[in-house]
Amino acid sequence: MAPTSPTVADVWTARSRITSIVRPTPTLPSQSLTELAGAEVFLKWETMHPTGSFKIRGAANKLLSLSSEQRRRGVATFSTGNHGLAVAYVARSLSIPATVCLSTGVPENKVRGMKRFGARVEVQGRSQDEAEEYCVRLASDEGLTVIEPFDDPEVIAGQGTIGLELLDQLPRVQTVLVPLSGGGLIAGIALAIKANNPGARLVGITMERGAAMYESLRAGHPVSIEEEETLADSLRGGIGRRNRYTFALVRKLVDDTLLVTEAAIGRAMTLLFREHRAAVEGAAAVGVAALLEGKLESSNGPIAAVITGNNVDAGVFAAVIGT
Ligand SMILES: *Cc1c(COP(=O)(O)O)cnc(C)c1O
Repeated sequence: MAPTSPTVADVWTARSRITSIVRPTPTLPSQSLTELAGAEVFLKWETMHPTGSFKIRGAANKLLSLSSEQRRRGVATFSTGNHGLAVAYVARSLSIPATVCLSTGVPENKVRGMKRFGARVEVQGRSQDEAEEYCVRLASDEGLTVIEPFDDPEVIAGQGTIGLELLDQLPRVQTVLVPLSGGGLIAGIALAIKANNPGARLVGITMERGAAMYESLRAGHPVSIEEEETLADSLRGGIGRRNRYTFALVRKLVDDTLLVTEAAIGRAMTLLFREHRAAVEGAAAVGVAALLEGKLESSNGPIAAVITGNNVDAGVFAAVIGT
């Protein structure tokens, strides 16, 4: 039987299940962004996990829910990078064999990271969709369990633990800014926040170049988009033509979706470096970019932006900060 769509109860289950692997992250005020936005702004630092992104939450919840037979056979995944890193890290800590299938577009620093965490890496296909096809074939040939990057109830519930932490740390939160790609992150956070604080607004933010969920929401069904070069490389890729969970959850629970320019992403990365001495990747900076561009409706309570990851190539980071 196919699993049903996750609920807030699954997010609570995930929170207790992952405590041995995932630590809570801090939510800290940003003085400069507060001055700029005209409302209190807080940043949730999901960069502080051992793999540098929140994806460890969903990966831990999924791998910990597998049967002992599935664990023994091993897991396979396809990823723009951070999900692959997270699966490799969690698999190693649970002694599960892991294979990661990547497209040729994934930056070299992420490939190195994957190997460092002990995963077998297969670079196949020019796009995310091609890497996925390869992964599914390999998994069925070798009896591996495919760990989806976003369209999976356990992965969504794992990412949702961010929302539960945020409610503890900032109960008055009124607006939550969440980078949006496949939608597992925002769907999970929205399940947690809306169940406890239905008045809070959930805003998904994507780069202008290749916004798959944004275009799908407007079309009313999942659509494929051209992948393009962007600073927010972790937000690239489609939502899957046979999307089962995240499209419906995002449509139901997310209040607004916004697009930001490459220039604004660069300015946001620079601000986070200058004001917070943090090196973050483009995908993580899109919420701050939306604040800088003045694209948000005014918030009558605190704004929280989820800073999702720090896996940025050193050369790319230096070029952005140096301009
Ligand atoms: C995966 C990822 C996202 C988006 O998560 P989805 O569940 O695909 O929407 C945002 N930021 C970073 C750094 C990521 O790795």
